Amino acid sequence: MSAKENKVHAFVRVKPTANFPEDMIKYGPDNKSIDIYIRRDIKKGVVNNKQTDWSFKLDGVLHNASQDSVYDAVARDLVSQALNGYNGTIMCYGQTGAGKTYTMTGATESYKHRGIIPRAIQQVFRAVEERIDQSITVRMSYLEIYNETLFDLLSTMPHDMSGDTHMAVVEYPQGVFVKGLSIYPASHEEDALNLLFEGETNRIIGEHTLNKNSSRSHCIFTIYIESHSRILSDAKYTASKMNLVDLAGSERVGKTGSEGQVLKEATYINKSLSFLEQAIIALADRKRDHVPFRQSKLTHALKDSLGGNCNTVLVANIYGEAAQIEETLSSLRFATRMKWVTTEPAINEKYDPERMVKNLEKEITLLKQELAMHDSLVNRSLVNYDPLNEIQIAEINSQVRRYLEGATDDIDIMNIRQIQEVFNQFKVILRQAWSMQRVI
Ligand code: ADP
Ligand code: MG
Repeated sequence: MSAKENKVHAFVRVKPTANFPEDMIKYGPDNKSIDIYIRRDIKKGVVNNKQTDWSFKLDGVLHNASQDSVYDAVARDLVSQALNGYNGTIMCYGQTGAGKTYTMTGATESYKHRGIIPRAIQQVFRAVEERIDQSITVRMSYLEIYNETLFDLLSTMPHDMSGDTHMAVVEYPQGVFVKGLSIYPASHEEDALNLLFEGETNRIIGEHTLNKNSSRSHCIFTIYIESHSRILSDAKYTASKMNLVDLAGSERVGKTGSEGQVLKEATYINKSLSFLEQAIIALADRKRDHVPFRQSKLTHALKDSLGGNCNTVLVANIYGEAAQIEETLSSLRFATRMKWVTTEPAINEKYDPERMVKNLEKEITLLKQELAMHDSLVNRSLVNYDPLNEIQIAEINSQVRRYLEGATDDIDIMNIRQIQEVFNQFKVILRQAWSMQRVI
């Protein structure tokens, strides 16, 4: 299948609130735009009727949307595409408390309120059961990036839990990988959910024992899918991955008055999110050929999920509250910027070398049988098509010699291999004659 261009899809999800400011936030009739009005009526006691307004066009505005309907709008297609061999990324962006983790992971104690990750796991394992003509393997990893340090949320090794330098983002022609990150296979939905919950627990433990603030870290849950055909003995198979990303809170904290840990976190977060934004702006600008992915661990790890061969969806989580309107505006700006980015999703096809060798061996046996049948139909005596051995080569050599000396007029023509060896022996003898001349 040829590569097709695709735009990044951006959605906004509004967190339900009792005091929704209807005069400030208005949705378009098609639920694809959102308008923000800030009426600065009273400014230092002076009445000012000037209205400030912004309009944002997106792929969908999700308000009062159930977890189920969010999944249908945001994730279902992307997951089916991943099962067909396309990479996919879903990212939640927004200020702390706006509903990123609720959208991505959901309420763990309530089935109805489970988020995108457990639903994606369910969809993948349903497909594993339903697609009986495919043998699908599923693996997963859970990476946390905190203050530019990588943490393996599924590791059983204590040093990975406390962040270790043996993990690194590395690039191969096939894509970006995190070296040292554990990737576990899951054969059932339950195994996969257990891994997710283990990761969630480790995230909380890290929060307490390492004094990490999880709203200041980025989490990337990755599902790796490999699909081999059960019907065709084809060596070709597809391998895709899906990144489900819960980004750190985007609020600009710690500008004034913060110190120590909080300031450090804020600096890292501000940096990595603004590098994400810079990478996105560079991607959207077709005139720029350099995109600064390596500036932060987050953009580096997401390199092939943002610009490259990938279906990408962004969910901007916002509060539907007047007090948060500045952060809401900044999240909506980010979301519209994402929509400018073009990606080129393509099926990730690979070859299984063992299966390829087996297939070729089968093919050769079959062709030999065809030849034998062909020979017997045209009444040729049994011809051996195997590679020539030393004795046969020596025999050809002496035949060529006799031919050159005039002792015989005929050279047997048996098969292509033998003809090639005749020419080769001509060359051998000629070289020998030349070197003799030089000696004389
Ligand atoms: P974030 O991860 O962006 O910091 P959370 O997902 O933790 O925010 O959400 C903060 C709180 O709001 C949580 O208690 C969560 O259950 C609740 N919440 C967020 N979005 C919704 C929603 N759409 N419907 C109901 N509750 C929500
Ligand atoms: Mg969160």
